[in-house]
Amino acid sequence: TTQAAVVTRFAPSPTGFLHIGGARTALFNWLYAKSVGGVMRLRIEDTDRSRSTTEAIAAILDSLSWLGLDHDGETVFQSQRADRHAEVAHQLLADGKAYKCYATPDELTQMREDARAAGKPPRYDGRWRDRPASDAPEGAPFAVRIKAPTDGLTVVHDQVQGEVKTPNKDLDDFIILRSDGTPTYMLAVVVDDHDMGVTHVIRGDDHLTNAARQSVIYDALGWDRPVFAHIPLIHGPDGAKLSKRHGAVGAEAYRADGFLPDTMRNYLARLGWAHGDDEIFSTEQAIEWFGFDGMGKSAARFDVKKLTALNAHY
Ligand code: GLU
Repeated sequence: TTQAAVVTRFAPSPTGFLHIGGARTALFNWLYAKSVGGVMRLRIEDTDRSRSTTEAIAAILDSLSWLGLDHDGETVFQSQRADRHAEVAHQLLADGKAYKCYATPDELTQMREDARAAGKPPRYDGRWRDRPASDAPEGAPFAVRIKAPTDGLTVVHDQVQGEVKTPNKDLDDFIILRSDGTPTYMLAVVVDDHDMGVTHVIRGDDHLTNAARQSVIYDALGWDRPVFAHIPLIHGPDGAKLSKRHGAVGAEAYRADGFLPDTMRNYLARLGWAHGDDEIFSTEQAIEWFGFDGMGKSAARFDVKKLTALNAHY
């Protein structure tokens, strides 16, 4: 058998400059693709029109190019694919894998309040899951919800986190298409990754819970799930979540301060990945050595002092 070519992707939301964490995610996708002779694609997740800006897109592209993280093929803009996302939602409807939910905002609020009063997590109660089409209020707006499995577990085999099991009762029938016809993030990511031929999804572990929901969508569509690798978030030297008090959190600031792309690639590669005790290595070596085996489960620590010391070597 021949191994299908590996396709990774970097999928930033253009709501600001490229963060150190985003730069690390891009680098890991780039290194992994290069290490196995695959390609990395780029998708701009600009679906949230109110928060996405052209300045942010330009800044992200600029930082990626400074870091030497090139991508293969055309850049995909998620906002331009809304028709395709809706098409897939309607395909799921036609296949009986999703259904129209006519619950009103008031009903949903009530549902949340009832759950809270009962000490339960706020979840959609499935009230439109099995109702006949003849019950549908004529002309009323509806959201499309996926029919999530109700029993058993959804298991994600993650390359970093191991087997991640989510009880299906915790995955309610989440919305894939809103009543205004726009796709949710959950659906858009799955459809885009599938259509772009993505085989490996490498991203921050803040997306780990999404992987279970996205797997439900893949399964409902009969599409192969990608390989998932969720990398631990980056913390500051004190162990707290990386923030401005640890130094600049934007990649661009380091360029302005005279740090070299080689330094950045070397340093960022070490945030969540290790090759023995090696601290200083070339990008060629990183490509040769890179793999999921070297990724740790605990948060990486970003330390400007160490970055500065490393820059002296380049
Ligand atoms: N656009 C998402 C973000 O910037 C990433 C989505 C994904 O990698 O699946 O956090």
